[in-house]
Amino acid sequence: MRQSQSFIPTLREIPADAEVKSHQLLLRAGFIRQSASGVYTFLPLGQRVLQKVEAIIREEMNRAGAIELLMPALQQAELWQESGRWYSYGPELMRLKDRHERDFALGPTHEEVITALVRDEVRTYKKLPLTLYQIQTKFRDEKRPRFGLLRGREFIMKDAYSFHTSKESLDDVYNKMYEAYSNIFRRCGLNFRAVIADSGAIGGKDTHEFMVLSEIGEDTIAYSDASDYAANIEMAPVVTTYEKSEELLRPLEKVHTPEQKTIEEVSAFLQVSKEKCIKSLLFKVDDRYVLVLVRGDHEANDVKVKNVFEASIVELASPEETKEVMRCSIGSLGPIGVDESVTVIADYAVQAIVNGVCGANEEGYHYVGVNPDRDFNVSQYTDLRFIQEGDPSPDGKGTIRFARGIEVGHVFKLGTRYSEAMNATYLDENGRIQTMIMGCYGIGVSRLLAAIAEQFGDENGLVWPAAVAPFHVHLILVNQKADEQRELAEEWYEKLGQAGFEVLYDDRPERPGVKFADSDLIGIPVRVTVGKRASEGIVEVKVRQTRESMEVHVNELVETVK
Ligand code: ATP
Ligand code: MG
Ligand code: MG
Ligand code: MG
Repeated sequence: MRQSQSFIPTLREIPADAEVKSHQLLLRAGFIRQSASGVYTFLPLGQRVLQKVEAIIREEMNRAGAIELLMPALQQAELWQESGRWYSYGPELMRLKDRHERDFALGPTHEEVITALVRDEVRTYKKLPLTLYQIQTKFRDEKRPRFGLLRGREFIMKDAYSFHTSKESLDDVYNKMYEAYSNIFRRCGLNFRAVIADSGAIGGKDTHEFMVLSEIGEDTIAYSDASDYAANIEMAPVVTTYEKSEELLRPLEKVHTPEQKTIEEVSAFLQVSKEKCIKSLLFKVDDRYVLVLVRGDHEANDVKVKNVFEASIVELASPEETKEVMRCSIGSLGPIGVDESVTVIADYAVQAIVNGVCGANEEGYHYVGVNPDRDFNVSQYTDLRFIQEGDPSPDGKGTIRFARGIEVGHVFKLGTRYSEAMNATYLDENGRIQTMIMGCYGIGVSRLLAAIAEQFGDENGLVWPAAVAPFHVHLILVNQKADEQRELAEEWYEKLGQAGFEVLYDDRPERPGVKFADSDLIGIPVRVTVGKRASEGIVEVKVRQTRESMEVHVNELVETVK
């Protein structure tokens, strides 16, 4: 492409509102422009990089057996009401009405649309497993859109959804997706790490995030310096053991392990949906029995809150005779990790039942929200803390280190969360109706661009890994008025193109200083400069990343540029 005829508006100044390197460079180098807060235009260079990244993603998705489709961004509220998320998703969901006053949302994700589609089209086990994906624009009304493409309100995502008849089949596809993700991020040249992620109720091993390591990342990763252990700090275990409760509370005696009293049993008994349940515990206090069922509450008060738990607490006449004597609930327990929250909740429960506090409500089994700091003195729990640098790794191997990460991908075993709510069923071999088991898998495609820019950019500009670069070669004509330079550059613009290279040809009537500065800013991996020695057939080849340069004869150019 001739630069004189392209649209690459570069900026000399650092835009005032761009805080991080990737945002500054993508603006300055003419890859993106802001249209509204968190909403961007991809300029021609940005669009080319997007297409490169998308091509890699498509290849790896197809290789993993996923099939591409394209779903609508405009989604009717009824679907979201079916899943329940119309009420729980909160203000991040962009809601709108059509001219008939019917409610719609602009899709932040597509579990509802795809579950409805597959529910309607797939009736038999013979059509399963099925993995479908799309690359599409998503909308999330982020509270704080920032860092350019890293946190937009309109952004591009690759989202895949898989449907299964068994947990084993889900595990199989999950592993394939995990592999595909690793390949994608490796091919993008990134330094990344897959970490155990926060899945609230579903359990840490069933979800991983892919983190690009970067100082400006919003997540903290705890990893071992001697093994593969790595977790989002949100999911990393709390280290300090829970010891002090007995000073203030009555001693707990665990009479059933969670295994003995399953979540299925307890949630059925309490008539609550088992989907969010994390743990059930049965305690003996003096001679009374307290059953606690802990649920992750991801969407408390209309806001997504991590590691906030809610518990149903029931006093039983006896462990065998599951007759409910009294019920209460507590919520809004701070972010202190699953196991410790469970223990703390259990203690609250006992206090509630034995001492009759914290919203315990004998009549009507009404759920009452209880806040630890408001309704309890929580000072005895202050020893609880997150895992810290220098702690031994939870897998017993090595020492914990911290790093910052940008979440570029997320794989998730959904189970029957959506298929149950939306009645996505199939007929098994015996003609019986079964609920589909699901997984979902996302990549922040536009965020990936910024993550690459963040990891590779230097003080002079962007540095694109060859696999995703907007062009392979930046051909610079130093002086377009010098005939021998112009003729040689024109000739090799043609020849490099014929040899299969994508060439950006700077044929503009600009000063050499401007051309070189723009070239560094744009960050194409190889620069070929046609200058003073054009008459001898000698050009300069410079590698953007290493800044190595050498003079070569044009006859060796194709070999050198490869
Ligand atoms: P985050 O924790 O950064 O808010 P998320 O966990 O809400 O992300 P997911 O629902 O897991 O995001 O969506 C899948 C992927 O989409 C994420 O891994 C991320 O790469 C990308 N993504 C999510 N929100 C945004 C956004 N506002 N702008 C750009 N990319 C995003
Ligand atoms: Mg988010
Ligand atoms: Mg996240
Ligand atoms: Mg996520």
